[in-house]
Parts: sequence; structure tokens; C-alpha cells
Amino acid sequence: MKIGIDAGGTLLKIAYITGDERRLEKRPSTDIDSLIDELNTSHRDDDIYLTGGKAEYMSSRLTIPAVLSIEFDATFRGLKLLMKEQGFKFNKFVYLNVGTGTSFHQADSDGQRRAGGSGVGGGTLMGLSRLLTGVENFDDIISLAKNGNRDQIDLKVHHIYAGNKSPLPGDLTASNFGNVQPGDHKDANIEDQLQSVIALVAETVSTIGISLAEGFNTEHIVYIGSTLLDNDVMTEIINRYVRLKGMRPHIIVDGEFSGAVGAAM
Ligand code: ATP
Ligand code: MG
Repeated sequence: MKIGIDAGGTLLKIAYITGDERRLEKRPSTDIDSLIDELNTSHRDDDIYLTGGKAEYMSSRLTIPAVLSIEFDATFRGLKLLMKEQGFKFNKFVYLNVGTGTSFHQADSDGQRRAGGSGVGGGTLMGLSRLLTGVENFDDIISLAKNGNRDQIDLKVHHIYAGNKSPLPGDLTASNFGNVQPGDHKDANIEDQLQSVIALVAETVSTIGISLAEGFNTEHIVYIGSTLLDNDVMTEIINRYVRLKGMRPHIIVDGEFSGAVGAAM
């Protein structure tokens, strides 16, 4: 069996591959030492492939051989395979990996080029949510956020134009958190705050994707990373913002496993 591992800042993504069979699994990165023990004891005859920020740490503690890949190369290999399996036909696109932080890339038939990164990512979603509301867990954050309403928190274009003719759609965000008034913190609703936090991250990665795609002459913007997982508030905002610009958002199923799958290729 081949075992591809993308050891990221927050989550370990693991792909167990036997012939055409693939099993995917996630664990918190804080469990890294127990995963290393497991590999050292129960997987001595398997082929181990590592990538991600914590790959070198894993490799230094493994007592069996492991092949290391550069994260951006492994992710691109895996992403291309997943996209092919899911029937995507285009070759020229931009992609954003919304992990703990966000990394963005331009891709065509010659390969990928990392265009940049942003500290606004899944770690921001978790950290700001915890600080503002005390809700700690990702699944709780995304399900509470669904019932929120960010009208009282985010300043919309229509708030500023106040009924007068606007050059932009009125419900676009003019300023994330910009509608919070003095004293509002006293009775702010948790669901609303969580929705605003997710929107801040979603709108940021939408805008980055749109600018990147415009500069690269493509309409295809691909999103991967565990931050998107079952995260309806986030994916709805990405889809709406990107489509409003006449571009095409694509959220890849199992996209967060691109690095783990690609490491083993
Ligand atoms: P990086 O690539 O930046 O080193 P990573 O590879 O660990 O980080 P991902 O796994 O793609 O990043 O995404 C991590 C984000 O996914 C978290 O910050 C959080 O927003 C979200 N997330 C989804 N599921 C979970 C979970 N079960 N536990 C913690 N975070 C989760
Ligand atoms: Mg990652």
C-alpha cells in the first residue's frame, strides 16, 4: 500500500492507496506523534510519501523510509488528478488553497506558478470566531453561522448610498464589520458574528481569486482546502461573488486531499 500524507498546520490529510482503491482520512495536526508511532509500528512494509509544512518533522521521526515532495508540486499533481476524475476539462485556471493560511496559484498545461499567499484563511476563521464568540469547534462554527444574519455587522453598499443610485449592487459588502456601532458588542448575536467572520474570509479569497484570474486571462477559479468543507456560508459567498464578476468558481470534491494524493503519485 502507498500512504500519502499532507501534514499541514492544522490537519493531517492521509490517503491510503491500494491499486485503484483510495481511502481518505483527516486527523488534527496535534496527533502527529501518534500517527508517526502508528507508521513506525504497523506500516513498515508500506510506501510512505510526505508533503506539507510538517513533512520534515515527520520524516525526522520515522524509522522507515519516506519520500518527501514540495507541497506546491504535490498539491498540483493531486489537484489535476482529482479534477480529471471529476470531469473538469479546462487546463488554464487559477486555484486557491484555503488552508490555515491561503496560497494562490496560476496553472496551465506547462504547470503551476505560485502567485502569492494571504494570512487570511481557515486559521483566521477559527481564531476570530473563538475570540469573538467563544465557539471553539469548526463544525459548531459553520453550523451556527448558517442561522446568522450579518446585516447589523457588515456595512453594505446600500447602507452608504442610502437609497440613492449606486454604481455597485447594494448588497455587496462595503466594509466587513464596518456596521458595528458603539455599544453593539453588548448584545451581539453569536450566529451573526460567526457568519461575518466566515464572510470576511470568503470575500477575501473571492476577491483575490477574481483579480488573479483577470490577470491570467482565465474565467476558471478553483478552490480547495479544508476551510471549505461543508461550509455552506463560505461556498455560497464564493459562488455569488465570483459569478457576479462573470467568472466560474469550482469547488473540488475532496480538494483538501490534493497534497496527500499528489505526494503518492
Ligand atoms: P496549511 O496548508 O496552511 O499548512 P492545513 O493544510 O492544515 O494548513 P487545511 O487542512 O486545508 O489546512 O485547512 C485547515 C482549516 O480547515 C482550519 O483552519 C479550519 O478552518 C478548517 N477545518 C475544517 N475541518 C476542521 C477540523 N475538523 N478541525 C479543525 N479545523 C478544521
Ligand atoms: Mg495545507
